[in-house]
Amino acid sequence: MNIIRKENYTFTFSNSNKPVSFIKPGNNIVFETHDCMCSQISCETDNLDGIDFDKVNPATGPLYIEGAMPNQTLKVTVQSIDLDNYGIAMTGPGVGVLGEKLDKMTHNILNITENSAIFKNIELPLNKMIGVIGVAPNSESINCGTPGSHGGNMDCKVIGEGSIVYLPIYTPGALLSVGDVHAVMGDGEIGVSGAEVGAKVDVNVELISNFKINNPIVETDDAYYTIASAQTLDDAYKIAVEDMFEILLSKCSLSKNDLIMLMSLTCDIEVCQVVDPLKTIRYKIKKEILKKLNVDKLI
Ligand code: CA
Ligand code: ZN
Repeated sequence: MNIIRKENYTFTFSNSNKPVSFIKPGNNIVFETHDCMCSQISCETDNLDGIDFDKVNPATGPLYIEGAMPNQTLKVTVQSIDLDNYGIAMTGPGVGVLGEKLDKMTHNILNITENSAIFKNIELPLNKMIGVIGVAPNSESINCGTPGSHGGNMDCKVIGEGSIVYLPIYTPGALLSVGDVHAVMGDGEIGVSGAEVGAKVDVNVELISNFKINNPIVETDDAYYTIASAQTLDDAYKIAVEDMFEILLSKCSLSKNDLIMLMSLTCDIEVCQVVDPLKTIRYKIKKEILKKLNVDKLI
């Protein structure tokens, strides 16, 4: 099995990071990932005060994809996500949406079974997802806690098993890194954590050379999502909606006005997360609507 072990992690997306593994497009590779606390917490009595907060949000990688060149698009198909047997949820003062109501940082350990994560005896159905997935950005290095055009900490609930993530390539080899898997998370991630869990993420990587994107796109069984991150949700949804509009306009025969009407009638703005340094929006079009436009795929 082609695997990158979790000891090979980085806290940044950067074109100066040295690849830890190489792959030819069309092949599969497993990213073994730490949880977002870099496995510093593994039981209820571990103290969050002792945590080195410089050691959070590690991503395994980077992986060099042979032949990948700037302006191409990287296609990452998530084949499977195997979770470790426990996860961590945490919150406290100064973080998340309601941090001002709290006076101390606390955490809970969630046992993870085949189909659920157990939070204080409450059984939660798994919603396995990848929090951090991205490539080297076109700017200087970006820490793994921050999302952007390169992907990164998008904390997007629909990046799960079977999903396809399309990322813009800015640097030779693309330099893909993956981390921050969640066993379950609500849109918004309002308390600043999901069920943070170590995992083995099996992906297939391919290159697309005839379609350039400006921001990540996610494809699921039944929909496509343009994804954008910005200082505010207002700024983020403007980018995501505009990306979708431009792609649809190039692919279907509707006028601008008609297309905007159709999007207004059928497409959904959804929130990925509101707690990271930039906020992330996803904008959804169902494949059944694309089909009615005689567009067989968005990308
Ligand atoms: Ca995250
Ligand atoms: Zn996380």
